[in-house]
Amino acid sequence: MSRKSNIMANVDMSSVGELITKWCSKCKMHKQIAAFTKNSTTADGLQTWCKSCGAEYRRLNREHERSYRKRRLKHFREYYAQYRKRHLKHLHEYYIKWRRANWLKCQVYDAKYWRTHLNKHRDNNARRRARKLKLPTEKVKRSVVYERDKGICHICGQKVDPNKWHLDHIIPLSKSGTHTYNNVGVSHPQCNNRKAAS
Ligand SMILES: [Zn+2]
Ligand SMILES: [Zn+2]
Repeated sequence: MSRKSNIMANVDMSSVGELITKWCSKCKMHKQIAAFTKNSTTADGLQTWCKSCGAEYRRLNREHERSYRKRRLKHFREYYAQYRKRHLKHLHEYYIKWRRANWLKCQVYDAKYWRTHLNKHRDNNARRRARKLKLPTEKVKRSVVYERDKGICHICGQKVDPNKWHLDHIIPLSKSGTHTYNNVGVSHPQCNNRKAAS
């Protein structure tokens, strides 16, 4: 570590051309160079405060920093939304390229995504099917139906697993039932399948 900064008054030149210790402007102590974080913007390339002073400062100002980060987050979000708008084509090309380079990772991720979003996928399909059949549709929220039916299967009257239930069309779409709140109900997957089979 050879730093030639003999102009710095707060630096100890214990050996020629080599920084051994540095004076911390916060705790007013001479400390080993290793006790300072690097900072490319200062003349000697080190922070003016030692690491422990910096840590203490951050600890005391954690609340302040948190709110600062939150403010910046909003700013960055807005900035990035604007950026995305301007570079849509470029970003899409980049995304395709990235997917191609990371296809294995993507496969794992996609499989996981569809496993967790299976219900959403299924509901969207039902809505699309109903729309195609020119049947009345509305955006049916699973959480609203679950609340309304109190998690009770409308076929057998038993409670369903909150994480594993089907949104059943009381009059099936194939029999011109609608994809609307008054024609859907909570059901067990088994009850729904049994009904579909009969
Ligand atoms: Zn210090
Ligand atoms: Zn049931």
